[in-house]
Amino acid sequence: MKYVCPVCGYVYDDEQERIPFSELSDDWKCPLCQAPKSSFQTDEPAPVIQPEIIPDEHRKLTPGQLAGLCTNLARACEKQYRSEEADLFAKLAEYFSAVCPPAEDESVWKLAEMLKEDIQAYPGTRAVCDAYEDRGAARSLVWGEKVTRMLEALVQRYLEEGDTMLEGTEIWLCTACGFVWIGDTPPELCPVCKVPSWKFEKIEGRNAR
Ligand SMILES: [Zn+2]
Ligand SMILES: [Zn+2]
Repeated sequence: MKYVCPVCGYVYDDEQERIPFSELSDDWKCPLCQAPKSSFQTDEPAPVIQPEIIPDEHRKLTPGQLAGLCTNLARACEKQYRSEEADLFAKLAEYFSAVCPPAEDESVWKLAEMLKEDIQAYPGTRAVCDAYEDRGAARSLVWGEKVTRMLEALVQRYLEEGDTMLEGTEIWLCTACGFVWIGDTPPELCPVCKVPSWKFEKIEGRNAR
């Protein structure tokens, strides 16, 4: 049996390794990206999913979703050196955040649950993209899913290890893909997008809420 890291694609092949995957200790992590053992998946082929066309009333975005969308567009404009457009999208994001009702449950468990729901929704969403032959949407889903899996692995690890995960160590962010690395120094190469270590930024002021 082969087990695949959902974040970086690292493969643990029972036939090649001395210890079968199931016998690795529970605190074993992906040697490349630190994703917890519990997030690994077997390489069985995914079931075929029939595309489900979404009713119109579900197409409306919530203020929170719009805020997220505008924040992303602001960042994208910034990267393209379109500062005027970036400012306008940032203002829109601020507006939508302000009108966003407060979250009922701000716990890390709720966050983990939402990330799991998102991950489960990807195959269906991909099937809709395929049905409409929308390659642009399909491509953005690839990165969306990658980032969601990165966050899910990180939150899962936090649920398993608690605050000790962050004690006496630094946190690094890949500025190219958003991958988060915990350690004294950044990895030589980003395990997800393969940029060199100088593309990693140290996260400062992490005790602030
Ligand atoms: Zn990995
Ligand atoms: Zn990266």
